[in-house]
Amino acid sequence: MLFSDIIFGPLHSRRLGVSLGINLLPAHGKWCNFDCIYCECGWNADHRHDHQLPAREQVRDALQQTLQTMQQQAQMPNAITFSGNGEPTLHPQFPEIVDDVIALRNACAPQAQVCVLSNATLIGREAIFRALQKVDKPILKIDSALDATVQQLNQPQGVYTVAGVVEQMQRFDGQFSLQTLFLRGIYHGVALDNSTPDEVQRWLRIVAQTRPREIMLYTLDRHTPAHRLQKLSPEELRAIAAQVQACNTWGAVIQVAG
Ligand code: SF4
Repeated sequence: MLFSDIIFGPLHSRRLGVSLGINLLPAHGKWCNFDCIYCECGWNADHRHDHQLPAREQVRDALQQTLQTMQQQAQMPNAITFSGNGEPTLHPQFPEIVDDVIALRNACAPQAQVCVLSNATLIGREAIFRALQKVDKPILKIDSALDATVQQLNQPQGVYTVAGVVEQMQRFDGQFSLQTLFLRGIYHGVALDNSTPDEVQRWLRIVAQTRPREIMLYTLDRHTPAHRLQKLSPEELRAIAAQVQACNTWGAVIQVAG
């Protein structure tokens, strides 16, 4: 599933309510430095034909137009969310676009939260870090505490270590949402499961180290490019949430979307 417009939706998000999406990636392609086996946009290799990114001005104009139309219809969103066909922080003008979006939100939709769904690979870059600190909800992904599982599940396209990302996440001082997708299945003939007791125990250590103000647990919802994957049951997700709650000494909000 690809988003063919710069602004899409509004969609009803399990996690964010009525959310207007911003796609900073190609309209007919995918650009990501992960290649998650569950990615709703499909495999990177299947969508490399389009490299055209929207310019900062195009994003600003498109968002302004959409928000003005929504204002006229009295249907304002709960969230304005950077997501779309890949990793939004890869856009070279991401920090400037964040400034534009916040300004437009303030002018046209002050009740809406500005959110960014990110795989957290670039949070070590100072400009990206500062931009993510400006938005209401930086939502950062870590699907496993084990590098080997991340290699299976997320297939990073460059150098990636969980320890390196955790170190950068600690700079947020808890002011972010941690999102983790739990699943099990078989990929390339190898079983994978990031919800085993050992996986969850190690992941809980990361949660305790980074102390995010919000923790979002979810599982598969739509079609995935790898075919032998299984979602967790709502009971299984709730059992993991209960383990988070048991060590949640800093009062994080725990969201479960099963
Ligand atoms: S990080 Fe997001 S966009 Fe990138 S491959 Fe994974 S699910 Fe898809």
